[in-house]
Amino acid sequence: MKTYLTLLFILSSVLFISAQEHTHQSLRPLSFPDIPGYKSLKTDLHIHTVFSDGYVWPNIRVMEALRDNLDAISLTEHLEYQPHSKDIPHPDRNRSYNIAIEEAKEHDLIIVHGSEITRSAPMGHNNAVFITNANPILKEKAEDAFKEAKKQDAFVFWNHPAWYNQSPQGNPILSDFQKERIKKGELHGIEVINAVDYAQESLALALEHNLTIMGTSDIHGLIDWDYTEKGNHRPITLVFAKEKSLSSMQEALFAGRTVAVYNGLMVGKEEFLVPLLEASIKVKEAIYHEDTEIVQIILENTTSSSLLFENAMDFSFYSNSPVFEIPAFGTFTLQVKTLQRLPRLKLSLKAIGTFVAPRTSPIISWEIIPE
Ligand SMILES: [Zn+2]
Ligand SMILES: [Zn+2]
Repeated sequence: MKTYLTLLFILSSVLFISAQEHTHQSLRPLSFPDIPGYKSLKTDLHIHTVFSDGYVWPNIRVMEALRDNLDAISLTEHLEYQPHSKDIPHPDRNRSYNIAIEEAKEHDLIIVHGSEITRSAPMGHNNAVFITNANPILKEKAEDAFKEAKKQDAFVFWNHPAWYNQSPQGNPILSDFQKERIKKGELHGIEVINAVDYAQESLALALEHNLTIMGTSDIHGLIDWDYTEKGNHRPITLVFAKEKSLSSMQEALFAGRTVAVYNGLMVGKEEFLVPLLEASIKVKEAIYHEDTEIVQIILENTTSSSLLFENAMDFSFYSNSPVFEIPAFGTFTLQVKTLQRLPRLKLSLKAIGTFVAPRTSPIISWEIIPE
């Protein structure tokens, strides 16, 4: 009886707590600051459900996105590859989107209508997002599918170009097919991070052909099982939009204003990655130790990503390694030997886990005025 009562008590408190707060956020929500002039939208535009080769219903994708604190997702079902079609026949390829829209309507989550155009190499897999109707994009010839996507004003990006199933060396091969699509304005972006794979060769292609830099989860199972449980966040694309809306996001993607993020790995054009990092780290305090020329600087990481830095100044550190990590949502105390007491100094650090080009990390500076 006592056990029963205890159980009842626990059960009722659990029910009480869950009835109290209606939040879908997990304990580890994704968080990044806005940059000057733009809102930083957290997006995952490559996701599967049972309506192609995924394993969950679309409403689970909406709830996962809310738990991760995302601003936008797209359920990009393979138009052509339908392994569950015997159990779930759905001649209307918009079905997954429609279920997600219904689920998300009470929440501040943008659902972008999308589809994955699926071919073997050299065409490969490509996501068309911001489409209006998936059905007419299902075409015999890949060229016709791209043409239809363009007719719908879709933003199209090349998925996992480095996927070893289609490219055994694990490197992207830009074929005449992609060159033709780029020339015709039918291919606008490229994944440099797909699931856990970052390919710097794909980044090189993005920069060379001015393609928008993308990072996506390409999730088929559960975000919790593939990422969260392993101590990771899903890969996302930060989209720098004038406001949080579908059309603003679309404009930003066409304009190439993105940074791909996977945990502490950030990949983007310098003009967006640098202000993102500047805004991500706040100087909380700067004060000279008494009777010394050593300034103590407390740095705060406002993001959900732990970030790695390396000293890029002539001044060296006191009691600190030249390479250090500022944990997600945490602080780090740096001690800099400035040789004399300076009224102001420029703290310059190389963000070694982030890339503006293959093997190239940006140097970020903060103005420090010691007390
Ligand atoms: Zn794919
Ligand atoms: Zn996919």
